[in-house]
Amino acid sequence: MNLSLEGRTYVVMGVANKRSIAWGIAQSLSKAGARLVFTYAGERLEKNVRQLAETLDREDSLILPCDITDDQAIKEAFGQIKEEVGAIHGLAHCIAFANKEELEGEYLNVSRDGFLLAQNISSYSLTAVAKVVRDLDLMKEGGSIVTMTYLGGERVVKNYNVMGVAKASLDASVRYLANDLGKDNIRVNAISAGPIRTLSAKGIGGFNDVLKEIEAKAPLRRLTNQEEVGDTALFLMSDLSRGITGELIHVDSGFNITGL
Ligand code: NAD
Repeated sequence: MNLSLEGRTYVVMGVANKRSIAWGIAQSLSKAGARLVFTYAGERLEKNVRQLAETLDREDSLILPCDITDDQAIKEAFGQIKEEVGAIHGLAHCIAFANKEELEGEYLNVSRDGFLLAQNISSYSLTAVAKVVRDLDLMKEGGSIVTMTYLGGERVVKNYNVMGVAKASLDASVRYLANDLGKDNIRVNAISAGPIRTLSAKGIGGFNDVLKEIEAKAPLRRLTNQEEVGDTALFLMSDLSRGITGELIHVDSGFNITGL
């Protein structure tokens, strides 16, 4: 039993640029020998994803658009994946969105539309994708689905607001999906990453202060990086984690264990 992913194919959803957590995951999986399929949100991001994919040591990556709010787009993307690669062995879901103005101040000011938008993109999308994967029997040899969550879904984190509520719903979805898909030998887990400076994270009010707090208080006294998250995803995608499902693993320099 080892960490090699030679001969296996993994879908990585959510690369926007080289700082994306999804890109950290893609690099770890690729180093372990995996073939990768990338999906991106819109035309604007295609060039970035193609340029990054070209820096990997292999030429068989597949790159496809997939707007996660559009059921037909999800069906088409995964239908094409089935046609081109047959089976997949895992999927990394690294997608979230909320209106910037609702990521500061009091949570109770959130609008109905803003609430539903955050839930739709950041939480429901995992379930929508998992359903298409099973309907198409894409993980016929079993598989591992990994999503990205944050401490703000378990505790109140200043300014995280509507996204915290979406992450709580995502965390619960992980458990329900793990229960539904376990009989097909498909595991579903979440990684709760410490704050990392990415495009999405920049939208959260007071983000720089949070980084300073982590460096001062986390047991490891340093920030989390994309590589650490990528290597944990590699573990979760590999057979070494074969007994783990429905779990939330913190990769956050230990910050979540701290109290006052
Ligand atoms: P990022 O901005 O690089 O990635 C977010 C991705 O979501 C982007 O690629 C974006 O295109 C995609 N996306 C948004 N709307 C979409 C749609 N409709 N269809 C398809 N894709 C869509 O930022 P990131 O920090 O790498 O975020 C990845 C995941 O990690 C998110 O779930 C985020 O909440 C989570 N996370 C981030 C941190 C952090 O501090 N950066 C910490 C914990 C968890």
